[in-house]
Amino acid sequence: MTGPSRKRELHQATIDGVLGPNGALSAVLSGYEHRPAQLQMAKAVELALETGSPLLAEAGTGTGKTLGYLVPAVLSGKRVVVSTATRTLQDQVFEKDIPLLRDVVGLPFEAALLKGRSNYLCAQRFEAFDQSPTFATQDDAAHWPEFRKWAFATQTGDRGETRVPENWSGWPQVSTTSEACLGSKCPLYESCFVTRGRRAAAECDVIVVNHALFFSDLSLRARGGEEKLGILPAYDVVVFDEAHALEDVATEHFGVSVSSGRLTSLAQDLLGVLPVTDGRASHLGALSITLRSRGEVLFRELSLAFPVEALDTRRGNDFTLTPEVVDLLRPPAAAVLETLAAIVAITGDDDPDLGALNRRAVETAAALEHVVQADDTRQVYWAETRGRSLALRAAPIDVGESLGRFLYEDVGAVIFTSATLTSPTGRQQRSFEYVARRFGLDPKATASVSVDSPFDFPTQAAFYVPAHLPEPNAPTFTLEFSREVLRLIRLTGGRAFVLCTSLRHLDEVHALVSPHIDVPVLKQGEAPKGVLLEQFRERPSVLFASASFWEGVDVPGDALSLVVMDKVPFAPPNEPLQAARIEAIRASGGNPFDEYQVPQAALSLRQGFGRLIRTRTDRGIVALGDTRVLTKRYGKQLVASLPPAQRFTRLDDVKRWWASSS
Ligand code: SF4
Repeated sequence: MTGPSRKRELHQATIDGVLGPNGALSAVLSGYEHRPAQLQMAKAVELALETGSPLLAEAGTGTGKTLGYLVPAVLSGKRVVVSTATRTLQDQVFEKDIPLLRDVVGLPFEAALLKGRSNYLCAQRFEAFDQSPTFATQDDAAHWPEFRKWAFATQTGDRGETRVPENWSGWPQVSTTSEACLGSKCPLYESCFVTRGRRAAAECDVIVVNHALFFSDLSLRARGGEEKLGILPAYDVVVFDEAHALEDVATEHFGVSVSSGRLTSLAQDLLGVLPVTDGRASHLGALSITLRSRGEVLFRELSLAFPVEALDTRRGNDFTLTPEVVDLLRPPAAAVLETLAAIVAITGDDDPDLGALNRRAVETAAALEHVVQADDTRQVYWAETRGRSLALRAAPIDVGESLGRFLYEDVGAVIFTSATLTSPTGRQQRSFEYVARRFGLDPKATASVSVDSPFDFPTQAAFYVPAHLPEPNAPTFTLEFSREVLRLIRLTGGRAFVLCTSLRHLDEVHALVSPHIDVPVLKQGEAPKGVLLEQFRERPSVLFASASFWEGVDVPGDALSLVVMDKVPFAPPNEPLQAARIEAIRASGGNPFDEYQVPQAALSLRQGFGRLIRTRTDRGIVALGDTRVLTKRYGKQLVASLPPAQRFTRLDDVKRWWASSS
């Protein structure tokens, strides 16, 4: 449909005409019940789009949040980017909600789905790898024939179409990153899945992305990135769904990182890029060796600056870079920078492969220079250890300021929505104040709407805090908590998520509980998330997981009847970013615990709770092993911010409730 006629048709449609009691959806969906809360949200979104102002929109589970923003966004006739935190929601918006409005209701608009580059097959790398594929294990090799068949048949190149495991060693060989991609110099550029996807998106009215891709694009623009590396076409409106997860993703993308692995892989890729007959090949070979050895010196210096025992933890640790440590790092960093400059000088831009290496060297040098300058008081600088990998990192303390500069000024309207945006802040039981400040908005001047879930929580859910458990820092906590987990799992016959706040605690609880469970036990990391969820839905099971299942996971129905969380999910206060944010609030006269740590934990806790009740007929138990919510002032605030489920502190009462509600 052409522009003017599309606009005319959209102009005639109204929100009530689509979502209302006698609207288009009621005509095409049998049993459709219009939802007043959804209409309320949609009208608030419509107003924000008209006025071009930001909107904070909290919509409890079951309100029909996606259509609540999608309908006014489509009817506005503007180009809209919808950004989600998780691929699950991204796929759901694109595969369920958009077809409903476009194909079933008949609203005239086109939509595209875009994911980050590393989600797509890189045709160039696939061709090369296919010549002599090698794998880390035989299991990995076994996936190759089926994968290869898919690679030749796929129309999208989207990894999500395959069933290879998350950690399949073949995928990094056949995909690429924006750093390593050859860009417009690539011989397969025109037929590349990423190029085609982006071109198609540029013709569409609604583009569905995830936060990672959105902020890759925004940070490229912020850095004045080359046009060829731009990801999204110009847009009028952005809707951030699952906006509670925004700050972390924005922090990651507005920051920089130079890891030991990044230097090693650049050094590795310098080898063999030119034929031995090319005079520059031996020079590049020598630079590769120098880069590797100077990188080792830099990161050895860094590791010596920190206590050995702290570097030796499996889960990894982060350390704020003090001025003294930065001083120590400058000489070895200067040596690395000198080598990178030599690589930049020799690689040039005359050949696609050399051009990609040139770009990588330039970007790595810029990041390293930024970190060792360490002179921007709005940034936090830290070192990160993950296993044997070390990284130097920097990120903005306040991403709100970056959003203000690079997003709000350029975009017509920004809608932030999630099932959890309000939290207790100071004396207020629930307000948007915390998220508004984190997003760089004035809490008093920003429009907001909050619509409650239509679910009957007092009937559908029980919230249980075992009062007899010791506090989480007691030596017996893990054992006592694990015993309680086992009792609860036996009560519900499995069908449980056991969510822990750290990987270490996850391992400990899993080791104590799993030998005594007679239903299948699943554990995060043993298979891709999607596969684990599929197995979980298929038969009564218990899934042990941490942060990645705490949010954005949807298991409606009886398959999930119990969610157990070990502790209030406070972010570690000594983690550099947290510490810097806490300090910044304190320095400006605020109370970081009340204004930052408690509201942040409240959002995570509400997210964890939210895994349980997904439909009007779901029922079940949420248990929290952290008795501080019964005894501390902030604990009571946290509990008060949760949905109004029946509250219990004794297992016998939970058992009675469970029996009566069965
Ligand atoms: S343009 Fe980049 S992603 Fe596409 S085929 Fe070439 S190297 Fe791979």
